[in-house]
Amino acid sequence: MSARLAEARAALQKTFGYDDFRPGQDEVIGAVLDGEDVFAVMPTGSGKSMTYQLPALVDDGLTVVVSPLIALMHDQVQQMHAFGIEAATLNSTIAETASRETWRKIRSRELRLLFVSPERLLMDGCMDALQSAGVRRLAVDEAHCVSQWGHDFRPEYREIARAREALGNVQTLALTATADAATRAEIAERLFPAGRPPKTFVHSFDRPNIRLTFQPKDNPTRQLARFLKDRRSESGIIYCSSRKRVEQLADTLKGDGFNALPYHAGLDQGTRARNQDTFLQEDGVVMTATIAFGMGINKPDVRYVCHADMPTNIEGYYQEIGRAGRDGLPSDTLTLYGLDDMALRRRQIDEKEIPDERRRVERRKLEAMIGLCEGAVCRRQSLLGYFGEASAPCGRCDLCRGGVSLIDGTVSAQKLLSAIVRTGQRFGAAYVCDVVHGKESEPIRRNGHTALKTFGVGADKPVAAWRALLRQLFAAGAVAENTDGYGGLVMTEKGEAILFGRETVQVRFDPEPKKAEPRSRRATRSEDATDGLNEADEALFQHLRGLRATIARAEGIAAFMVFPDRTLIEMARGKPVDLWALRSIHGVGERKREAYGERFTDAIREFLSDAAGARGAPG
Ligand code: ADP
Ligand code: ZN
Repeated sequence: MSARLAEARAALQKTFGYDDFRPGQDEVIGAVLDGEDVFAVMPTGSGKSMTYQLPALVDDGLTVVVSPLIALMHDQVQQMHAFGIEAATLNSTIAETASRETWRKIRSRELRLLFVSPERLLMDGCMDALQSAGVRRLAVDEAHCVSQWGHDFRPEYREIARAREALGNVQTLALTATADAATRAEIAERLFPAGRPPKTFVHSFDRPNIRLTFQPKDNPTRQLARFLKDRRSESGIIYCSSRKRVEQLADTLKGDGFNALPYHAGLDQGTRARNQDTFLQEDGVVMTATIAFGMGINKPDVRYVCHADMPTNIEGYYQEIGRAGRDGLPSDTLTLYGLDDMALRRRQIDEKEIPDERRRVERRKLEAMIGLCEGAVCRRQSLLGYFGEASAPCGRCDLCRGGVSLIDGTVSAQKLLSAIVRTGQRFGAAYVCDVVHGKESEPIRRNGHTALKTFGVGADKPVAAWRALLRQLFAAGAVAENTDGYGGLVMTEKGEAILFGRETVQVRFDPEPKKAEPRSRRATRSEDATDGLNEADEALFQHLRGLRATIARAEGIAAFMVFPDRTLIEMARGKPVDLWALRSIHGVGERKREAYGERFTDAIREFLSDAAGARGAPG
């Protein structure tokens, strides 16, 4: 390890209270400290921000951090202050006097980190003033926003290169969690000087602490309720595809006693900000949201992320689930998907007014997403495979644990296809499956379809099994949606080949949606973030969480900025009763030890003596 890197590691321990670098951080930080231009692609939660925070601490001079969301800069600054680092933000929502103080600190070279939006950076006078004060380096967060092939394109990001030049072509560091090759190429081209390619690092996309589970939609609200049952004290996000669904679900969950809050772009600014703050500051909040929520949310202890509807593409899915478990503790995901999602997304892509080339890209991405949902091999393996990474089966996803196998489904498929053709290629999935299963519903009788040869040929299997099969045929392209807009299913050329025996189909055999095991069961305990805490320690952990909430509320900052869960779990286990003992606890750096150390060690001491008193008391 170079001397500079050793210095950075010492700062990591002293200021942040972390033992060591996370995998990959050291090489990126090493290159930054060597003065190189750097482009780092690292998954969400891997600790990308540290790659500009630490160099800003150990080098003199100012680091300007460009990031897309003004709303989050305030949080980022608070987080830096909690660690005792001089940071500030400039934007239109900040009072004149505060800005003046910030400029003073920039000129006197006290400030280490300045967070700005690209618009602000490019405003008249800003760059000149920065240049004359001196900027050491530029860090571009969420760098994929510069690419129109990415999923968060921001035209203003295209102007960052101009800012870099105006600042005297300062050292530049670009960060993203987007894996797509086309996006990466565009980032490298658009942000860095021509002929001076950055040193590029692409890190593994594996997030071993996040468990992946998919379920076909059966009764989504009930499936989610079952998942949430033992997770009342945990924070999580449930993504829905529409605003209406966001609100319905938040209401339902509230009715069930959950601290659920809605978030979507249709809510007024004040409500959105309030709900986001509550989610950040309190424990045990479930946010039901559209994908408008989450970019740049740094909350490290999000314990689960659910998708109530199938995600749009794998990049989005990966980014969304990546918001779980940034602290490295076990976290869960649940993704629900159905044939209606697949059909809707296909239709949306067909109807979008976009160039054909772009449409082809989006179709390919959607097919990959559907493939992941309907896959038969380890989810993690498929996911990493999509990002070009080879890996072994994870042993923990639903497919690894459920032992799904592929069987020849040609004969069953023929039954479904035949029912589609004989009913005139006009009906939806539910109707077709009812015909095959032999359900004498009122519309089926009215249409005379009880007399069909295919009526009831599949009475041996539950309707759910037929739906699962039909969904797979849809995913495989043997069945498509009618273009008349009524959602009727039609047989495609591929379907015809199957019906007439020219082609066979392999299908996944999972007749019944499996019930999620209750989490309190011993066998699944190892998945808990608080694993290893016995009952008494668990009580201490909850007690410390209470203290943390009190402090966070009083200071108006997020709970995790006081201390993340992992720190409180280590305190509950190690029971440090003085400041010295606190030194070895994860996440307790100098400034936090001074600011909060005593209150926590006092709380632990009192808790222990109360417990001893209770044990000693007669009766
Ligand atoms: P990313 O931007 O890659 O999604 P962050 O930079 O927000 O991730 O880091 C996620 C969390 O991990 C933060 O709470 C951060 O303080 C913490 N972290 C970063 N580096 C380390 C480390 N070396 N050891 C322990 N925790 C770390
Ligand atoms: Zn697996």
